[in-house]
Amino acid sequence: MSRLKKWLLGLCFLLLAVALWVVFSPMPQGIPVLEYHEVAESVDEDAYVYNVPPEEFRQQLDYLQQQGYTTISMLDFMKAKRGKMELPAKPIILTFDDGYEDNYTDLLPILEEYGMKATVYVITNEIGQPGYLNWEQLRDMQDRGIEIGSHTANHDPLTGMDAARQLDEVHLSKLLLEWNGIYTVYTFSYPNGAYDASLPALLAQNEYLTAVTGDAGLNTFETDPYLMQRVNIPHPRFGLLEFKLRLLKAEVFTKLRIHQHLENPS
Ligand SMILES: [Zn+2]
Repeated sequence: MSRLKKWLLGLCFLLLAVALWVVFSPMPQGIPVLEYHEVAESVDEDAYVYNVPPEEFRQQLDYLQQQGYTTISMLDFMKAKRGKMELPAKPIILTFDDGYEDNYTDLLPILEEYGMKATVYVITNEIGQPGYLNWEQLRDMQDRGIEIGSHTANHDPLTGMDAARQLDEVHLSKLLLEWNGIYTVYTFSYPNGAYDASLPALLAQNEYLTAVTGDAGLNTFETDPYLMQRVNIPHPRFGLLEFKLRLLKAEVFTKLRIHQHLENPS
């Protein structure tokens, strides 16, 4: 056998071993944080890629229920981490970035129908603009069990911004929400998923407890609470199968300890 053949055979065995290990060893016990944007029947073309149509969203929620998942908020996760709350057997967190108006008109009724919780991250300078949530809707959503988080004031990536502006984006967006009747804002979502090593400390100084990235993976109490990983759920092109594969990908990435730092334009 030539050296090349031996090498290829070895590689095949290695790949087979990895595949068997992924398939047969128990999947990691981690909490998925799903990353959505819009749930609406019709959206403009720019938003299409981030929109999950209501029918497909319902199929996803049906699947999560069948799998025994119970939705929790980011604050529930932090309470449980500090031993102040018991988590359900299979917790999952649903998050929605940017604060689109359809989160109120289309998403909220579906969540209520399923008895599920969610966290909505709003861009405070967009509040009340066409296509975005207004203050009344935000307060009503909060009264109906939705957790509101900050996605900064202007949605500019925080990386590469000077420290004074970073502070404004992080601090003023939180204050504005709280001044307008939103409960203490504990949770934050990095615009475009862009973060650097200094940002967790800045968020902690500004009394945030958690932040979500766009990095793929699941979360445990050992995960840095300011670098929570998510499972991105864009417009599905392959139906429910794609949703299942995206959840599986996060499990596999967690298991293989692959850290995929993604920056997306959302
Ligand atoms: Zn965003």
